[in-house]
Amino acid sequence: MIKNDIVETVVDMIKEHPESVDVNKRAVAYVADYYPIGKIVVEIHVNVSLLPFDSDVSYYNLLDSGAYSEEGEFVVDMPLQDCGRIISRIFPTDKVGQFTEEQKSDLHIMATMFHFYTGQYKIVSSLKRASMCHYMSGLYNPKGYIIKCMELSQRYNIRDYDSCYFNIKGFGLVNNIFGSHEGDVIIKRYAKDLQNFINEDENVGHLGGDNFVAFVRRTRMDEFLGYIFNYTGYGIRNGKKKEIKLSATIGISPLERENVMPNDIISEASLALSYARQTKQDMVVLNDELKNKLYQRKQIEETFDKALENGEFVPFYQPKVDIRNGKLVGAEALSRWKRDGRLISPAEFIPVLEQNGSITELDFYIFEETCKNLAKWRDEGIKIVPVSINFSRKHLDDENLADRINQIIMRYDVDKEYIVAEITETADYDEKELMTRFLDKMQIYKIKTSIDDFGTGYSSLGILRDFDVNEIKIDRSFINRPEFLESDNVIVGSIVSMANRLHLDIITEGVENKNQVEFLKKLDCYYVQGFLFDKPLPQDEFEERLRIGGYDLNSKEL
Ligand code: C2E
Ligand code: MG
Ligand code: MG
Repeated sequence: MIKNDIVETVVDMIKEHPESVDVNKRAVAYVADYYPIGKIVVEIHVNVSLLPFDSDVSYYNLLDSGAYSEEGEFVVDMPLQDCGRIISRIFPTDKVGQFTEEQKSDLHIMATMFHFYTGQYKIVSSLKRASMCHYMSGLYNPKGYIIKCMELSQRYNIRDYDSCYFNIKGFGLVNNIFGSHEGDVIIKRYAKDLQNFINEDENVGHLGGDNFVAFVRRTRMDEFLGYIFNYTGYGIRNGKKKEIKLSATIGISPLERENVMPNDIISEASLALSYARQTKQDMVVLNDELKNKLYQRKQIEETFDKALENGEFVPFYQPKVDIRNGKLVGAEALSRWKRDGRLISPAEFIPVLEQNGSITELDFYIFEETCKNLAKWRDEGIKIVPVSINFSRKHLDDENLADRINQIIMRYDVDKEYIVAEITETADYDEKELMTRFLDKMQIYKIKTSIDDFGTGYSSLGILRDFDVNEIKIDRSFINRPEFLESDNVIVGSIVSMANRLHLDIITEGVENKNQVEFLKKLDCYYVQGFLFDKPLPQDEFEERLRIGGYDLNSKEL
């Protein structure tokens, strides 16, 4: 066989299967029949800065006869642009001791071809692997994680797995104590420990920061939760090793069906985690009921803007009544969402809008509609009454809230005595200053304010002392009882007498029966709002009630 044929055959073999160490070995064995090679070691170095791994040097023994000459080592070293380098160390048999110059020249050609194909393949696969891993921890990134999960679900039954998305609790504090550099190192250790905890048929990924995902066999979930809720690691501070205990907040989606879409694996667990965070729970397991609820919530969020634009939200008005004479003394505007012929109650959409902040837009919309209505009724010669509008505490961050309310009242030219702004009692001490700022400004503008759901917070008495309001609205829980106890008398009685002494208006909500009316009368609390008189009424029915001006207390229904 002539030399060129050997080189060509070897190059063809390598070209065909650059990924196969076996083929490489066979190629080398083939060459070794013609050249006195005792041993070949290949080193592949991948540039570390391109990888999430600390080192990526691989060594292959492509041939080792055991009888080779160290001194005769012939090195072919080839840089692979700036991605790394590949080095072949070729040793002659101990019998020859040295390669001839001609042999070296042939080996150089063959090694170079080998480097070109195999090196390129190795580097590309290392970089491919890197593109699927998180640059810091080396765990799978979302793309790599999903690919690996799908591979596992082809080999095993996906119904046997739970998909988890978790976040280390209070990691900000760890960063503060140890510094962000050591914080990163702690995360790397955490990632490594997770990797060790996870079995071959399971998976774990790092989505960045202190967020991780895991694909765990359901039978191992208790063990896994025990691990992440009670993780013990360490950090180095001032040269000393300090133990760290870490816990987590976790969302879990049990993958109890066949048709799991790749993206569901992360997104469902993520949905469960955000719900866990919103509701301040350590762990939430997604079930069909919760999925539905979260789906509806998403629907509300997504359709809100359009619905507001289309006038799907409308104010209903619930009368406020003086129980001494049945007179209509006011009303409360309560929003309803008219959607596909159905009337959606605020209990369904207000909490969602509170959470994403859109509630502020709705409140102003209901407020403006109410101002428009008051102006219209007045212009039509109907005797109007003061109407309360609910303002969410979410508005308190807006320092211009009172100014905006004032401007709108002016714009619709409504007399200020017909507007009351209701805001719920706050139990949150931090909001106290914001609340004071708002209430004080409202006093300057001479717009009435009312504290809604009074008595449900922790600082009700503090409110009476600290806040300059015009009215308190006693929460319905105080009168919503099968029978009144002496303690109810004392509590409601003292709220009423304090309010009277402070010259505050007082009203009780949720009055449903005559017993409650008698109870309140005895305590000198005369203004009420409740189903006994009317539920919140659509605009035309309320208009009718305005025209009548009140209720006949002697009528049978009352
Ligand atoms: P709220 O401001 O305390 O309003 C009183 C709620 O009690 C109303 O529920 C009303 O229908 C209900 N209610 C009145 N009388 C009775 C009664 O005798 N028995 C019973 N069981 N319930 C009675 P609604 O309309 O479902 O509103 C619920 C809550 O949603 C309101 O509580 C308020 O906090 C909020 N909300 C409603 N509309 C708006 C709005 O436009 N903006 C804001 N920020 N919140 C609103
Ligand atoms: Mg209210
Ligand atoms: Mg209320």
